[in-house]
Amino acid sequence: MRPEILFPLFAPVTRLPGVGPRIGKLIEKLAGPHIVDLCWHLPSSVIDRRYQPRLAELTPAQDGQVATLRLTVDAHRPPPGRRGPYRVACTDGSGQIDLIFFHAREDYLLRSLPLGEMRIVSGKLELYRGTFQMTHPDHIVTEAEFAALPMVEPVYPLTGGLNPKPLAKAIRAALAKAPDLPEWQDGPWRAQQGWSDWKTSLLAAHAPQTAADVSSDHPARSRLAYDELLANQLALMLVRRSMRRQSGRAIQGDGHLRDKVIAALPFRLTPSQEMAHAEIAGDMRSGGRMLRLLQGDVGSGKTIVALLSMLIAVENKGQAAMMAPTEILARQHHATIAPLCDAAGVSVALLTGRDKGKQRDQILAGLADGTIQIAMGTHALFQEDVRFHDLQLAIIDEQHRFGVHQRMLLSEKGIRTVDTLVMTATPIPRTLTLTAYGDMDVSRLLEKPPGRSPIDTRVMPIDRIDAVITGLHRAVAAGAQIYWVCPLVEESEAVDAAAAEERHAALRQIFGDRVGLVHGRMKAAEKDRAMQDFQERRTDILVATTVIEVGVDVPNATIMVIEHAQRFGLAQLHQLRGRVGRGSGKSTCLLLYQSPLGEMARARLKILRETEDGFRIAEEDLRLRGAGEVLGIRQSGLPEFRIADLQTHEELLAAARDDARMIVDQNPELSGARGEALRILLYLFERDAAVQYARSG
Ligand code: ADP
Ligand code: MG
Repeated sequence: MRPEILFPLFAPVTRLPGVGPRIGKLIEKLAGPHIVDLCWHLPSSVIDRRYQPRLAELTPAQDGQVATLRLTVDAHRPPPGRRGPYRVACTDGSGQIDLIFFHAREDYLLRSLPLGEMRIVSGKLELYRGTFQMTHPDHIVTEAEFAALPMVEPVYPLTGGLNPKPLAKAIRAALAKAPDLPEWQDGPWRAQQGWSDWKTSLLAAHAPQTAADVSSDHPARSRLAYDELLANQLALMLVRRSMRRQSGRAIQGDGHLRDKVIAALPFRLTPSQEMAHAEIAGDMRSGGRMLRLLQGDVGSGKTIVALLSMLIAVENKGQAAMMAPTEILARQHHATIAPLCDAAGVSVALLTGRDKGKQRDQILAGLADGTIQIAMGTHALFQEDVRFHDLQLAIIDEQHRFGVHQRMLLSEKGIRTVDTLVMTATPIPRTLTLTAYGDMDVSRLLEKPPGRSPIDTRVMPIDRIDAVITGLHRAVAAGAQIYWVCPLVEESEAVDAAAAEERHAALRQIFGDRVGLVHGRMKAAEKDRAMQDFQERRTDILVATTVIEVGVDVPNATIMVIEHAQRFGLAQLHQLRGRVGRGSGKSTCLLLYQSPLGEMARARLKILRETEDGFRIAEEDLRLRGAGEVLGIRQSGLPEFRIADLQTHEELLAAARDDARMIVDQNPELSGARGEALRILLYLFERDAAVQYARSG
């Protein structure tokens, strides 16, 4: 239960004065539904009105500067013939300036700028045809009102339809609700950093005095960022601790199945694969519960590592289950693994949401009596009525989604206690791994299996699409298959699907009916059929949205065309590119862009041309775009930070991690004064689920 002291912060924003349903909706879209969300909505810049020149002092260098002027109103000049702006000519004794208003209401202007009177006017100076003017001043006040005018104002990020003034007012009202909270930070640490308490820091973060004050390394922001990171790390550590305490089962194989499978492989394991397997075997052998992340680029060979790990459980007379995020992938994993299991005499079954009735009953019976030793499937594997005879290892293949494991570890009865291996195909930078998987040990597959030729990556403007098509004709004639990925227009499946459909139709005009289509709006069965047609070479070209990103394996596909490449994240482009270059043949990736290509976009695409190292690409992506955009955090389930910025706060993250570890070692129940305060911290950052692990001790 959320502590009472936080109640005011978690009231809806519509509770604030001046925030009705309409503005409330906009604020919710911009910041979030609760008052606390407004507290986290920090200014992005400042308007400094302290510059108060005489008009005679102005030089062209002041063009664009915000100034506050004492002006006497000389004349009102309504637009002649109702066209053009309304001008109010003013002087300050030293010079002359026009105030400009578009679509002005004359009565309003005559009231706020009465002829012959003095007003204080603040806004942006503009040089227009050699003289200064000011369009729509931000403030027009009398001398008496001037005292109350803030000379330095925070500027907040906005959303369409929401004006700065009501937003600023709502934020001021939200801040007024902020309670004094007990200190959760370690005293000496905070003293060393020179940080103020939470509330003082929050208020300071909203009251920047200079442009430098809105930078993320300002002490007030650093303090708040540290709080957020500490909440993140503490939550992960609490979950981790409780997971590890649960099971004391030592699982050890004798290697007889593993040896058979290895003998049946047409290749040797890479050193990374050997190492990862040894780490997994070590975890399983130990008494504690395994919680390990296997991180490896697309094509790095995670599947075989997964299989060898599952065989340990089978050798130990138990069962293993592996869950894939989609039906297509589950089938594909099954197709890869089944022949190897046959070679070793291990029984495997596939269970997906599509299995119904008798077939499903049969599989369930096999899982329950242990005759099925390895189960592959989708989320269907962990539904209520699925019982395992003796599940010893669960593998969750997250591919490019994040946080699936968190939800599963917390909620799925079936795997809450067994050794768990999570696989991700996203070579996330180390910092992001810490924030998303801080509760896990990590194995990384760093090198790719040998024998792959590098992918020839080219960047070209879409204007050259005719040349591209000619090239594709030649490639198809030579037996190649092609992926054509359509632009990510918006974060909307419907729009993306429409773009893909259009491209599909256009390519059909050229290539006839050997062009397939797959996108997120199609039914699962249709998608599977399209994929299968491509896999079995009934189609030569597969037009797709990013749904193909998730792990499809068609070794004969050697060409990848990506339209509007500049709209994708680097990591995402890398994942997409990983769909080709799977066989031994030479592969090509064409990144088509819409001219003109900005500096930044050019730099990003260049990195892709230079390297195929997913970890390097991910680091560069983080450096160039920031964590918020790497892969589109909103969709990915990666923890979203409100204040922390992983580029500037990397060191704070490391410190928060150490701090969290110490807390969990020394005070796992979160008792005493600091423990109480830490609970408040967890609730403040909505890590409510983690608190229960503190309570259960
Ligand atoms: P991931 O799941 O990491 O994307 P896969 O496990 O699907 O990668 O492996 C990609 C391809 O590489 C598969 O065709 C697999 O058979 C092959 N492969 C895996 N390990 C090796 C290896 N050590 N040597 C050569 N080929 C390998
Ligand atoms: Mg795979």
